[in-house]
Amino acid sequence: MEPIKDIVNIIFPSPTLILCIWSLIVVTCICGDYLLLLVSDTDWLGNGHIVRSVIDSSIHAIVSVLVWAVVENFEHLNDFRKWQNCACCAVLAVAVDTDHFLAAGSLDFRKALNLTKRPCFHNTSLILAVVALCLIMRQYIPALKMFSVMFLSSWLSHHLRDAGHRGLWVFPFGHTPVFPSYLYIALTLLLTVLVRIIYCVAFNTGFHLNTHLFEILNV
Ligand SMILES: [Zn+2]
Repeated sequence: MEPIKDIVNIIFPSPTLILCIWSLIVVTCICGDYLLLLVSDTDWLGNGHIVRSVIDSSIHAIVSVLVWAVVENFEHLNDFRKWQNCACCAVLAVAVDTDHFLAAGSLDFRKALNLTKRPCFHNTSLILAVVALCLIMRQYIPALKMFSVMFLSSWLSHHLRDAGHRGLWVFPFGHTPVFPSYLYIALTLLLTVLVRIIYCVAFNTGFHLNTHLFEILNV
C-alpha cells in the first residue's frame, strides 16, 4: 500500500486544499441548479431567457475554474500564470454554448434556446477528437499540449453539468439518460482527479513526478 500512498501524495500534495475546492464545486453545482430552478418561471420584463443563460454560463465558468484549480494544485496564489489558465478555462467552458447561436444562425436568444436538436459543440465525442488532433499537432505547435488538457477539463466539465438536464450526447452512439445531480457532481469531482493525473504526467510538474514514481516503484 505504501507506493500507492506515495503516488497519491505526489499527485495531491495538498489534500486539505483539494477537499476545500471539491466542496466549492459541490456547493456551486447544487446552489447553481437551485438558483436556475428559482428563476425558471420568472419573466424579468421579457428577458427571463437571457437572465437564465447568464446564470447558467456563469455557473459553467465557475465550475470550470474550480476544476482547473484542482488540476494546477492552486496553492500558490501569486502565480499569475495559474490565474491566466483559470481564466482561459472559464472562457472555454462558456464558449461551448456559442453553438446554440451558430445552429440558430442568429444572435437572438429566443431562437438560440429553442433549437429542435442539440447543437454540435455539445457532442462529447468532439472533445476526444479535438484532444487527439491537438496531441498530433503538438510537435508543430507546442502550446497545443497545454491547450488540449485545458480543453478536456473545461469542455467535459460543461458537458457533465449539462448531462444533469439533458444527458450526454456521444456521437454515433446517441444520448445517455439524464444524469441525477449526485452523478454529474461525482463525475465532475472524478474529472478533477483524472485531469490532474494527466497534467502531472504530461508536464512532469515542479516535483519531478516521473523520477519520484520510478523511485517509488523501484524501476
Ligand atoms: Zn451547454
